[in-house]
Amino acid sequence: MRDPVSFLKEEYEALVGQDLDWKLRVLAGPSAPWCHVDGKRVLMFCSNNYLGLSNHPRLKEAAIEAVKSHGAGSGSVRPIAGNMDLHVELEERLARFKAAEASLVYQTGFAANSGLIPQLAGKDDLIISDELNHGSIIDGVRLSHADRGVYKHADPDDLGRVLGEAEKASPPPRRILVITDGVFSMDGDIAPLDRIASLAAEHGAMVYVDDAHGEGVLGEGGRGIVSHFRVPRERVQVEMGTFSKAFGVVGGHVSGSRELTRFAYNKSRTWLLSGSHPPAVVAACIAAIDVLESEPEHVKRLWDNTSRFKKAMKDLGFDIGRSETPITPVMVGDSAVAKRLSLRIFELGVFALPIVYPMVAQGKARIRTIMNAALSDEDVDFAVAAFEKAGKEQGLV
Ligand code: PMP
Repeated sequence: MRDPVSFLKEEYEALVGQDLDWKLRVLAGPSAPWCHVDGKRVLMFCSNNYLGLSNHPRLKEAAIEAVKSHGAGSGSVRPIAGNMDLHVELEERLARFKAAEASLVYQTGFAANSGLIPQLAGKDDLIISDELNHGSIIDGVRLSHADRGVYKHADPDDLGRVLGEAEKASPPPRRILVITDGVFSMDGDIAPLDRIASLAAEHGAMVYVDDAHGEGVLGEGGRGIVSHFRVPRERVQVEMGTFSKAFGVVGGHVSGSRELTRFAYNKSRTWLLSGSHPPAVVAACIAAIDVLESEPEHVKRLWDNTSRFKKAMKDLGFDIGRSETPITPVMVGDSAVAKRLSLRIFELGVFALPIVYPMVAQGKARIRTIMNAALSDEDVDFAVAAFEKAGKEQGLV
């Protein structure tokens, strides 16, 4: 008799054979500049907790108070009995922070992309995507029944070509949705959103930006990519983001017009059919917005640390790719070398993971570092010294 689950072991072992399985490291205690990973004290250099807010006293206090006042769970999905006053307050606060008419909070950023994109475009429509967009966007596009167009990474001229071809198609698409990451998570470069938005406006297309890595980083007080480029809000119909990165908590969100948010919550299956955030999560997210509005020093510190690290690494002769943000890839090329480099810097006390094929193209392996506002100058210099020692050993510099 055939074993119906033999593929579980076989496919896992195939991954192990190619060294493509995830070896999970365990963080004991909070995500802090210095933390304990697999029992070793190391400098955290790869978390998305850009501003150190996940361990900020005001967020922790808000979470504890919300448990006392509202309990541990919400009891339901939001459209039934799980729509607490805290959820409404968070959306009002976020909309004000983003200078948008309205915001809607999803359980995760992945739930926002995979739940909303298939509702914005379907059969007879066209979705045009940057070739390096995040996997949650790719899944959202797959779930739609729309035609797909891809333009070259961060290349408005190529986007113009795809939009031009769409215009000439017969019949032309009913609706066109252009989607891009704001900051690209593997390279740390920024999408040219100003030019993308102008082109889309010329062709009557909607724009959807995933600002997961731009929030808390770019724009006035960390308001994100729309603020960074000062793009008129009506030209970016969907500004999507997440509370899981610079905000330090968890949860996805979209901001735009009230028409957008009420459409989104009536249509997104991920929103309608999944339990709402527990009170502690929501209250911590509200506190994160409070901190961003009242403590501007975190965003400034993030950028100071970023400049210090990038300059030192360039001076040493490392290739740091095309990064313009606190995500700094240390380009290595070969996957095996990237893995060795990551293990060696871990031994030297720095935690940053290798990113290898198939996450990036063959020959483009790298160590992806992510800067954190909570690091001191000495911490940044410590990381540079570890890269210098390990890089010399590997013949990279
Ligand atoms: N978009 C991008 C660009 C991301 O990097 C991520 C997180 N890896 C997501 C969406 C998903 O966000 P979340 O963690 O809130 O599900």
